Amino acid sequence: MAGKTAKSARPAFEGAGAAMAVFGRAVLDLLWPPQCLVSREIVGATGQIAPDFWKQLAFIDAPLCARCGLPFAYDPGPDALCPTCIAYPPAFDRARAPLAYGSATSKMLIQFKWGGRMDGVKPFAAWMARAAGPSFREADIVVPVPLHVTRLVSRRFNQSALLAQQLARILDVELSVDLLVRTRRTPSQMGKNRKQRRSNVAKAFAVRPARRAAAVDRHVLLVDDVLTTGATVNACAKALKQAGARQVDVVTLARVVDDEWHSL
Ligand SMILES: [Zn+2]
Repeated sequence: MAGKTAKSARPAFEGAGAAMAVFGRAVLDLLWPPQCLVSREIVGATGQIAPDFWKQLAFIDAPLCARCGLPFAYDPGPDALCPTCIAYPPAFDRARAPLAYGSATSKMLIQFKWGGRMDGVKPFAAWMARAAGPSFREADIVVPVPLHVTRLVSRRFNQSALLAQQLARILDVELSVDLLVRTRRTPSQMGKNRKQRRSNVAKAFAVRPARRAAAVDRHVLLVDDVLTTGATVNACAKALKQAGARQVDVVTLARVVDDEWHSL
């Protein structure tokens, strides 16, 4: 009898717990109503985007450069590369991003990076997982692009690490937030051209010596928020490959697709 009582009591307890969670969410929504991830206007649920801004977000579709994920205006066939990847072959194997960089994406990233808006992490990582596709799930380890410690203090959190953590959960791949380190603080990449960006981040990243074994012969999935010229993820991929990584794929939330945004 006691067993039966215990068994029948559990669903009732879980039901009460779920009801409390719904009530708790309703109270929280009254106190802090969910805000659009771009504009901060009130929306129906956490992680949503107001319809006007949703229309402005440009999601990237195939055909793409097989290497860097740049969308093509026409389909040049499978495994085709863009002129940049032919002229400057990157150190990473593949890069993918769900969003093309534009004004709405820019506003959303400002909210995320400097506005402390962590309510976007779950939807962002879900979009990134979709853009990455099934073959990226074969990665052995997910690694965020690290921030220098002084920048981490001023920004309070590393947004790439938050995205990496959620993406690793979705893909069911091991997460390592300390495999890569930033060996020196670099000036912002903003306003620099491709060559300046490359030299700005050259040798700025290294595999942490104590974690070197975690990189050897591994397929690494590197995570960052935006790919502009690719200089940062390229410098990270170089460090990972020098440490023995077999393959380095990259997933970012957004990527630049036209020259207008290259000076960011
Ligand atoms: Zn390319």
